[in-house]
Amino acid sequence: MIYKRSSTLFREAQKVIPGGVNSPVRAFKAVGGDPIFVKEAKGAYLYDEDGNRLIDYINSWGPMILGHAHQPVVDAVVEKAKKGTSFGMPTEIETKIAELAVSMVPNIDKIRFVNSGTEACMSAVRLARGFTKKDKIIKFAGCYHGHSDSFLIQAGSGAVTFGSPNSPGVTEGTAKDTLLARYNDLGNVEEIINSNKNEIACIIIEPVAGNMGCIPPVKGFLEGLRSLCDAHNILLIFDEVMTGFRLAKGGVQELYGIKADIVTFGKVIGGGLPVGAFAAREEIMNHLAPLGPVYQAGTLSGNPLAMAAGLAMLTELHENSNIFDSIAKKTEYLHEGIAKALIEKNIVHTINRVGSMISVHFSENPVIDFESAAEGNNDTFKKFFHGMLNQGIYIAPSAFETWFITEALTYEDLDTTIKAVSAIAENL
Ligand SMILES: *Cc1c(COP(=O)(O)O)cnc(C)c1O
Repeated sequence: MIYKRSSTLFREAQKVIPGGVNSPVRAFKAVGGDPIFVKEAKGAYLYDEDGNRLIDYINSWGPMILGHAHQPVVDAVVEKAKKGTSFGMPTEIETKIAELAVSMVPNIDKIRFVNSGTEACMSAVRLARGFTKKDKIIKFAGCYHGHSDSFLIQAGSGAVTFGSPNSPGVTEGTAKDTLLARYNDLGNVEEIINSNKNEIACIIIEPVAGNMGCIPPVKGFLEGLRSLCDAHNILLIFDEVMTGFRLAKGGVQELYGIKADIVTFGKVIGGGLPVGAFAAREEIMNHLAPLGPVYQAGTLSGNPLAMAAGLAMLTELHENSNIFDSIAKKTEYLHEGIAKALIEKNIVHTINRVGSMISVHFSENPVIDFESAAEGNNDTFKKFFHGMLNQGIYIAPSAFETWFITEALTYEDLDTTIKAVSAIAENL
């Protein structure tokens, strides 16, 4: 495949946009080479500026669970747009999508809409702090909750339990309130709680991790967090920006039968438009302004185009809930096919999968946390990524990302993908 016009466009973009992109991972820095500029997309396929057709395994990083330009979503947005695109006043459609979301997800009575997953997680943490009147939070190394200051924290050095900033611009003052724990390590969480008695407002977690590849929680881990939170008056926040409306109608809470206190959403809930949301039981949500003292706001929050896209998407998922099984089966098929192709060529690897999330790690050990995810062979991943791209298959340009399977992918597409893996495995 030839990617000439994409490279030209990338050079132009770099003159006026930092790094040529509006979100860093798009720039291909982890894999080298120039990013692909997309022109349009339909169903399972991307069509780029050079006229190539690519099978898409990123799907806008998750939202397009039914494929690109899904007709009911497109129609809903076009119809809405003709009637005005923003009012900054209440609209009926906001109540409609709120009612639907609350009916699909367990343990939530009220939901507030924002414009991104970052905003949802940032607001959820503020709400948890306001509700518990405590300051510190626990997050897990390798989990991503957006780019707000409290989350851009890495493990602190030596004996300190608090984190340190992992981006310039995040202050030490902010960092000292974020405590970093190891994913899937309940003992570590317990230690942190014990050395910060009565100071922790919330634990925030990706209940199935997707931002260090796909990492499922080990048996008992989420249950253990629930008990620790109950014992210590800590709120448990499930960041379901990736998993919500993807792994089940009710997300991971439904999938594993575990109750969170606050849940955050993004990606699928917006049907491809910029939407995030956070939700909880009434007692907690009533702490938000204008009912309560915890402030949170947004000029474009509940935007009619975004709500129309989200409502159309959730309606489809609500009415056809066999979709979740169907995409999980496709993912399992892909898993088996890729594993077979890699084993035939003796390529050391580990594949993780939950529902329609899957990741291929070039590592011989189980991938259960950030450290084990980081052990993967990045040179092999780079070759794998570019090999796939040359065969017209678009996977995430980083070894720390999950692939997202959509209902638009056919078994023929999956076979094409498995054949591509077979063909390139020779040279990995
Ligand atoms: C994508 C993501 C976010 C951030 O959402 P944005 O819309 O990119 O701000 C937060 N949490 C998780 C788990 C995510 O996958």
